[in-house]
Amino acid sequence: MSTQQKHNFGAGPCILPISVMEKAASSVINWDGSGLSILEVSHRSAEFEEVVAKTQLLVRELLSVPEDYEVLFLQGGASTQFSMVPQNLLQASGNKKGAYLDTGYFAQKAIEQARHFGEVQIVASSREKGYNYIPDNYSLHHDAAYLHLTSNNTIEGTEIFEFRNFGVPLVCDMSSDIFSREIKVSDFDLIYAGAQKNMGPAGMTLVIIKKTLLTKIKYPLPAMYDYRTYAANNSMYNTPPVFSIYVSMLNLLWLKDQGGVSAIEKQNIKKAELLYEAIDKSEIFYGTADGGHRSRMNVTFQCRDKKHENGFLNYAQERGIVGTKGYRSVGGFRASLYNALPLFSVEFLVKTMAYYEKMQEM
Ligand code: PLP
Repeated sequence: MSTQQKHNFGAGPCILPISVMEKAASSVINWDGSGLSILEVSHRSAEFEEVVAKTQLLVRELLSVPEDYEVLFLQGGASTQFSMVPQNLLQASGNKKGAYLDTGYFAQKAIEQARHFGEVQIVASSREKGYNYIPDNYSLHHDAAYLHLTSNNTIEGTEIFEFRNFGVPLVCDMSSDIFSREIKVSDFDLIYAGAQKNMGPAGMTLVIIKKTLLTKIKYPLPAMYDYRTYAANNSMYNTPPVFSIYVSMLNLLWLKDQGGVSAIEKQNIKKAELLYEAIDKSEIFYGTADGGHRSRMNVTFQCRDKKHENGFLNYAQERGIVGTKGYRSVGGFRASLYNALPLFSVEFLVKTMAYYEKMQEM
């Protein structure tokens, strides 16, 4: 099972291996025998500074982050990045445009926020088809300040597998697939991710930014909205989200023990293939995302006859399968297969789908 006693296919906020949960729980009472809770230990202490340093190092190791990038820990979730990106990179960029690929609900939210800071160019959109694919036939205006992508569309269940180089800074929201697969950090200039899927508990936002991009920000900004503040203060300008950082460290150590990102990616591919195969074989269920763009993290599917929607949800729930209800605006089902969800949970879901389908024939 994933955590505790359930097969948890929920999209978040946070799915962690039980061993990490246990260590996190004991640290709340007595952190590593210090006689203090991790929640009360000073964030300015050498011990906690070591936690921050270790977590940064693990991010660097696991994602092979090159030396010319900063690894920063912020707050405010990925949603704050929707405005911080244009605030730092678009505003005062000399009439340049923020270029956005519109691939879903969260991309839309990023676009909305960018409009507060300058002009936006939507390079392509899959909105007319319910965001069931990733548009790949598009070009950029010569005056784009950056291109913003959402590598995994958590609600619609699509994922980008190829990142093109347009010669402008590439910014990517990787909230729901970071650490799930190998990426080449040097393909990007700025990567951001809310911690709460594959990294750790909600509260911390990971930002990986190219140092040369930081030097291009020439104007003053409010301190908390300025990437330079975090880089200059080792992410400790104000009180950092200590628990989220600490548990992220534990979880990244777990990931390293599993063999790192390349090993977990193989496991994630296996899990996703198993579930998509079952959906494609089914008479009752069908997948909603287009073949080549199907997400390995969030598998979205529907049933041909609506009567099965509650029928299957209840049947699965009685068997300890939780979190498979689709996002409220989309309906149907979404099974999230984050790193901490074991293969046997997917095998169990697939079997449950088959049993349910057999029952309908009786
Ligand atoms: N972007 C993506 C791809 C997400 O999946 C989410 C949340 O799930 C967000 C942005 C918003 O993140 P937050 O809730 O941390 O602001």
